[in-house]
Amino acid sequence: MINYLYQEQNWKTQLSDLITDPKELLQQLQLSTDQLLSGAILASEQFKLRVPRAFVEKMNVADPFDPLLLQVLPHHLELEEHAGFVTDPLGEEQANQLPGVLHKYQSRFLLTLTGACAVHCRYCFRRHFPYQENLPKNEDWINIRQYLLDHPDINEVILSGGDPLTLTNQKLALWVERLESLPQLKILRIHSRVPIVIPSRIDEELVSLLKNSRLHTILVIHSNHESEIDDYTVRQLHRLTEKQVTVLNQAVLLKGVNDSAEQLAALSYRLLDARVTPYYLHVLDKVKGAHHFDLATDSISQIYTELLARLPGYLVPKLVREIAGENNKTPLYGTPIF
Ligand code: SF4
Repeated sequence: MINYLYQEQNWKTQLSDLITDPKELLQQLQLSTDQLLSGAILASEQFKLRVPRAFVEKMNVADPFDPLLLQVLPHHLELEEHAGFVTDPLGEEQANQLPGVLHKYQSRFLLTLTGACAVHCRYCFRRHFPYQENLPKNEDWINIRQYLLDHPDINEVILSGGDPLTLTNQKLALWVERLESLPQLKILRIHSRVPIVIPSRIDEELVSLLKNSRLHTILVIHSNHESEIDDYTVRQLHRLTEKQVTVLNQAVLLKGVNDSAEQLAALSYRLLDARVTPYYLHVLDKVKGAHHFDLATDSISQIYTELLARLPGYLVPKLVREIAGENNKTPLYGTPIF
């Protein structure tokens, strides 16, 4: 029986005490470890299981189809080869200008300051990304700064995955200060799944850092299912919105996890409780190892059409696909793609 022991524990303690053994995860959830085929163990060796205990507390005990569990438990199907599913589906190697820097869109610039995530999502499009060879060191700031100065159209920096909120507040503050020193920058965006999997990460220092920056700060969280947002998570997210930090959500449409209009509508209403705006609903990026989360185009179209009918417009996330080399995310609804 799970007893909500970890929810409010210090976030650094939680980050250092992740579940990384699939057997331990199944035992915690009172599930048989017999279902762990050798392929799943091998899949876990290729892309390690990582999940915070506070996130496991949100899962249903004794439910092998729990939608949160399915997102993190290694599966033998990950080892299958499928045409079109590749290691770099978004062509990020082409956009990798300097260590840690991806420049894909005209006004936005993506900076990965860490390769670490608190959770390993099995469908992640960066699951094969060579982070370790590609992290900016302290001294790389000089080159990053020059790159920004050479591209005056860039007015927004996105700190993205690896997950920037696995960094200490001190390290984040150092980079925020550096970015603030460039007058051309107006917006700081942080993409993070940590507020969902370790909600206690939203601490006083972080709230203060985001609230007091001269940059307009936008936190984009990543939640795929209403069960990920319990009452404690709602209260933690309120700490940010009460201080006028904009919080948006992006979700990925995943077979077996949230593949119905009913589920997606429930997520949008739960986000509303947390005062978070549904922003994007991503179609799965075709990354090697994630084929079993993919949905047919007809199903996607049917789900989204029904979602539009169920929700007021302000709660409908934009359905998009990222296509390598395109100048922006490609909106899918109402285009010839369907
Ligand atoms: S938290 Fe984000 S970057 Fe990290 S594994 Fe999950 S989807 Fe990928």
